[in-house]
Amino acid sequence: MEVPCVRVAREAGEATRTTLADADLIDDTYEIAVEDGWLYIPVTNADATREALEDATIVTRTVDERETQTTPADLLAFDPSYERLGRAVLIDDDDPERAQAIADAVLESDLPVETVLNKASKVKGETRVRDWELLAGEDTEVVHREYGCEYLLDLANVYFSPRLATERHRVVEQVKADERAFDMFAGVGPFVVPFAKRGADCVGVDINAEAIDYLRENARRNGVTDRVTAINDDVRDVAADYENWADRIVMNLPHSADAFLESAVAIAGDDCVLHYYDIQHEDDPFGPGERAIRVAAEPEYEVTVETRHTVRSYAPHELNVCLDVRLER
Ligand code: SAM
Repeated sequence: MEVPCVRVAREAGEATRTTLADADLIDDTYEIAVEDGWLYIPVTNADATREALEDATIVTRTVDERETQTTPADLLAFDPSYERLGRAVLIDDDDPERAQAIADAVLESDLPVETVLNKASKVKGETRVRDWELLAGEDTEVVHREYGCEYLLDLANVYFSPRLATERHRVVEQVKADERAFDMFAGVGPFVVPFAKRGADCVGVDINAEAIDYLRENARRNGVTDRVTAINDDVRDVAADYENWADRIVMNLPHSADAFLESAVAIAGDDCVLHYYDIQHEDDPFGPGERAIRVAAEPEYEVTVETRHTVRSYAPHELNVCLDVRLER
């Protein structure tokens, strides 16, 4: 069967395969082919692959069909919904018997998974950590790969959502080398680490000490320690040390970001892009955020909304959105 494949030298194969897997672009119905020192990795979408891997060589060639893998759905009488996070599967099921049946099927399937976790609460409190029920495996610490970066994190102690990978990548692609980027609610570093990999000088703040420990570890794992300053504190108490500093600010604390806009304006430099996350009713998802930003920043700054972006549906009639806003003094 002829399919589009990324052609890559064998030595670079694993890094390329990981990047493609993180972007969900590998066509698993075909085998990866090896010939004359080259790997041919089948992909589902040639255009999306060009976007994810700027210097990709894409060729059309014949590859073998893969032998069928056993999925959890093959072993159950239904198709369970789940998220993958490294070698963990995350489910959200409040029926204990059904949850355990899914966990057993996941382990028995061909998925490369050793841990199954069931959501046991909503994200809560200041640190936005949720409770998890460990249905299979040893613990809640996982290694997760996203767009070529590697993250160690413990879901029982820090916030992390693999669902936001595409959104983070959208923002990461705007970052330029040598700019100064400030993440006010940095977590384990899914914005800070890839920003730093693009050459930005980054500050990440989080009130959760464990998140900051993981951010430091993740900077180390990804070779960007020299471009990352990680601070464990309330960002409102850090703002004065970074007055007029940032070319870019990320505010991913959707339910209460408006309470931190005064600090954001203090941190902003003369020309600064703010990525402001919000959760609002679908009738006016961008209005409240835009008005709050104008109240905080005008007239000191000219405020221009560059993008109004819907990230995902959050709850019935509620949207998780992002405003990319330029502040010019
Ligand atoms: N940016 C990360 C991500 O995308 O995975 C984490 C986002 S999470 C929704 C929000 C984070 O803000 C949590 O890690 C929480 O501990 C942190 N946080 C909450 N209040 C804070 C404050 N006043 N100062 C600094 N960090 C805070």
